[in-house]
Amino acid sequence: MVVMSRPLFIGSEIYRNSTYGKGHPLAVPRVSTTIDLCRALGWLPDEVYREAPMATVAQVTRFHDPAYVAALQRAEAEQQVSEADKQRFAIGVAGNPVYAEIFRRPMTSAGGVLLAARLTAPGGIVYCPGGGTHHGRADRASGFCYLNDPVLGILSWLDQGISPVAYVDIDAHHGDGVQDAFAGDPRVKTISVHEEGRWPRTGRADDTAGGSARNFPVPAGFNDSEMRVLLEGAILPEVRALKPAAIFVQCGADALEEDPLSQLSLSNNAHWSVVGALRDLAPRLIVTGGGGYNPWTVARCWAGVWATLNGYDIPQLLPPAAEAVLRPLVYNRAAGRNPPDHWFTTLRDAPREGMVRPEILALIPETA
Ligand SMILES: [Zn+2]
Repeated sequence: MVVMSRPLFIGSEIYRNSTYGKGHPLAVPRVSTTIDLCRALGWLPDEVYREAPMATVAQVTRFHDPAYVAALQRAEAEQQVSEADKQRFAIGVAGNPVYAEIFRRPMTSAGGVLLAARLTAPGGIVYCPGGGTHHGRADRASGFCYLNDPVLGILSWLDQGISPVAYVDIDAHHGDGVQDAFAGDPRVKTISVHEEGRWPRTGRADDTAGGSARNFPVPAGFNDSEMRVLLEGAILPEVRALKPAAIFVQCGADALEEDPLSQLSLSNNAHWSVVGALRDLAPRLIVTGGGGYNPWTVARCWAGVWATLNGYDIPQLLPPAAEAVLRPLVYNRAAGRNPPDHWFTTLRDAPREGMVRPEILALIPETA
C-alpha cells in the first residue's frame, strides 16, 4: 500500500460572490462558505490548501467539443448568447444561465480536478468541493453543469495509466454525464445512488451501461439506515471487487433532508460514512462536491467531508468564529426566513435513522 501524504484541499476564490442569478438554485454560496468554515475550525492551514488553476482549452477538449468550449468563452465575453448557440449548446436555457463567470468558473472547477488527478498520481487524497459537475456533456450544458470535471479527472487518471477507476456518486440526481462518458469502458465503473424518477430520470436499476455502471435509484424519504444497508450490502462489495487503483467520489449535498431539490432524507452523517468507508479502499482518492442548494446544509456537510478525510473530530458545538460564517448567510426560500439554530451552531446533523424498506433491499444482490 502506498503511504498516504496529508490530504490536500483544492479551492478557489472564483466561487466567492459568483452566482447563477437571483432565483436560480445556485444563487447560494457553497465553496466559499465551506472554505471559511474549515478555516474557522482550524482545519485548513495554508500548507494543505491549493488554489485551483484554470484548465486550458487543450485540457478540456480532451472530452469537450472545441466549438462548445468556444461558445462558453464567447458567452462570458458578451454576457449573452445567440439563438444558434442556445439551441446547439443549451447555454442560456434550461437552468444553464449566462452568468458573469460562465467560462472561468467551470474552467477553474475542471482545472482543480485535473490538478487533483495529477497530485494523486503517486497516491494520496485530494478534496475539490468546487468539482462534481456530473451532468455536463461533451457538446452541451446540462443540469446546471457546463463542463464535466469528473469525466476530465478520470480521463487524466486513465491517461496516466491509472486504472481501474471506481466512480461513486451520492448526489440526489443520477450521474448521467459520467456514466455515458465511460459506458462500456472496462477501466471505469460508475456507481450512482439517486432519487428514483427525479431529473434526468435515467439510471434505472437495470441500467448497466454495457457493464460499466451500477445504479441505485432510491425512493423519496431515503434515510441514513437505508444508506448504510446499501453502502455495506452493495456499494462497498462492488468497489472492493473492482480492486480500484483510484476512487472518485461525487459528494453532492442535495440528498440531505433540508435540500430543496430532492425529497431524500439523509443526514450529513450518511455522506461522511460513505466518504470514510471509501477512503481506504484505493491508494488514490478524489472527493468533489456536486449538487446542494441549501447554503447551510451544503457548507456543514462539505466541511465535515474534509474533517472525515483528515480524521478530525467534529465538535458538538461550533466555536464562535465558525458560527459567524454560518449566521449571516442569506437564503431566499421559505426555509431561509426562519432557519433553526442548529444550522448555525453545529456541523453534525442529528442522525436520520428509519425503516429499511423493501425497495432498498431489492437493490442488494444477496437480499433480492
Ligand atoms: Zn444533484
